[in-house]
Amino acid sequence: MDCNRAAFLTGSVALVGGALARPADAATAPPTSATPEMLLGQLMAGNKRFVDGDFPAASREVTKRALVVEGQAPFASVLSCADSRVIPELVFVQGIGQLFVTRVAGNYPDDLVTGSIEYAVEHLGTTIVLVLGHERCGAVKAVYGALKEKKDLPEHLSAIQRLIAPGIAGVVAARGSLDAAIEANVRAAMAALHNSPPVIAKEASAGRIRVAGGVYHLKSGAVKLLQ
Ligand SMILES: [Zn+2]
Repeated sequence: MDCNRAAFLTGSVALVGGALARPADAATAPPTSATPEMLLGQLMAGNKRFVDGDFPAASREVTKRALVVEGQAPFASVLSCADSRVIPELVFVQGIGQLFVTRVAGNYPDDLVTGSIEYAVEHLGTTIVLVLGHERCGAVKAVYGALKEKKDLPEHLSAIQRLIAPGIAGVVAARGSLDAAIEANVRAAMAALHNSPPVIAKEASAGRIRVAGGVYHLKSGAVKLLQ
């Protein structure tokens, strides 16, 4: 067991499938018996709480803060947009130590993001990776417009364009909607991560981790998983 994970689990409890599991025996117990699918279910149960406005007391985080001083074992990695309306910890009602979050405009992984998620998979034991797109994404919209007008975005934004454009070019060519482009971008980001060697591709192809994708809906707060 990774030492960070063992340290975190000592004397703590793990939340699996919405229920409190037994305290882990850090020396001998496996980190968790939960499958990637169960952990995705845990995320989505949190999203239902968010939609319903069911938030835990903020004071709970003070207690949890002490549990993660020696290490962390987030149960999920989330790659989301930097958009101020899409906050993964709120969207899934998760607190300190529960999600390993990387955020970048357009939620498409470059090397820094991939390396971050790789770290979570290899060293923190994360077995579910969720790419979270969202409605009305300004980054995807900008790239969509640039492709449509056959222009390049200005410097720095052009870096985002280079990453996102291949995944949505087909939608733009077919005069598809922005929603379709947003979904295509999530799928392209999922594929990029899933096929990323050495760590993520190996773990994903062996079925030890799962790379999932979803789109956040601004008004309802609901995440729709992509099948
Ligand atoms: Zn966005």
